[in-house]
Amino acid sequence: MEPHILILGAPGAGKGTQSDRIVSEFGVDHVTTGDALRGNKEMDISHLGLEYDTPGEYMDKGELVPDAVVNEIVETALEEADGYVLDGYPRNLEQAQTLSEMTDLDVVLYLDVDEDVLVDRLTGRRVCEECGATYHVEFSPPEQAGVCDECGGDLYQREDDTEETARERIRVYEENTAPVVEFYDEEGQLVRVDGEGSPDEVWADVSDAVETNA
Ligand code: ADP
Ligand code: ADP
Ligand code: ZN
Repeated sequence: MEPHILILGAPGAGKGTQSDRIVSEFGVDHVTTGDALRGNKEMDISHLGLEYDTPGEYMDKGELVPDAVVNEIVETALEEADGYVLDGYPRNLEQAQTLSEMTDLDVVLYLDVDEDVLVDRLTGRRVCEECGATYHVEFSPPEQAGVCDECGGDLYQREDDTEETARERIRVYEENTAPVVEFYDEEGQLVRVDGEGSPDEVWADVSDAVETNA
C-alpha cells in the first residue's frame, strides 16, 4: 500500500514545496485543502447558516473555513487517493479528531520555521495560474520574472499573501493549529524537520523521514 503522509507547518513553512517533491518521488496524491478551497471560493455554503456564505470570504480575511466544509472535501479526496500527502489539514483539534476517524497515518512531518522567516516567504510567494508550481521572487525565482519555468504560464500573487493577511494567518495558526502539532507530538508520531535550510536541504530530511517511517 502507498504511504499515508501528513505534512504540518505554519503558513509559508514550505508544505506545498515539499509535498510536490513527495508526489514525484513516492507516487502519492497531493491532497491539499488550500488548493481545493481556492478552486471553490465562490461555492454557496449559505445553507449551513454560518457567518459568511462562501469559503472565499473566510480565506481573504485569513480565517479558517468552517470544519463542516473542509471535512467533507478531505473525506472525499482521501477515499479517492491511493497513498497521499495531506497538506493544510488538520488545522484545529476538531479536524485532527475527524481525521483519525477517516484514516491511519504512516508518518507525520512537521516543518519547523521561525515566524519572521514565514512573513518573508509568504509575501514573496508567486504561484503559476496554469500548473500551480510555486516560486519565490527572491528565494526561488523563475528564470524569467512572472513566467512559469515548468509550463510558461503566468505567475500571480495569492490574495491572502499580503503582509497584513499573512500575519493574521500566522496568528490563527498559533491559536488553532499549534495545538495539533503538540497533539501528534504527544502521540509520539511527530517527525520534526528543520524547515529553514534551502529547499534541497529540507528535502534531504523530509525524504529520509518518509523512507524511514512509511
Ligand atoms: P506552504 O505550503 O507551507 O504555505 P510553500 O511551499 O508555498 O509553503 O512556500 C512558501 C514560499 O516560500 C514559496 O514562495 C516558496 O517558494 C518558498 N519556500 C519554500 N521552501 C523554502 C525554503 N526551504 N527556503 C526558502 N524559501 C522557500
Ligand atoms: P498556507 O499557505 O497558509 O499553508 P493554504 O493554502 O493551506 O495556506 O490555506 C489558505 C486558506 O484556506 C487558509 O487561510 C484558510 O482560510 C483556508 N483553509 C485551508 N485549509 C483549511 C482547513 N483545514 N481548515 C480551515 N480552513 C482552511
Ligand atoms: Zn506552470
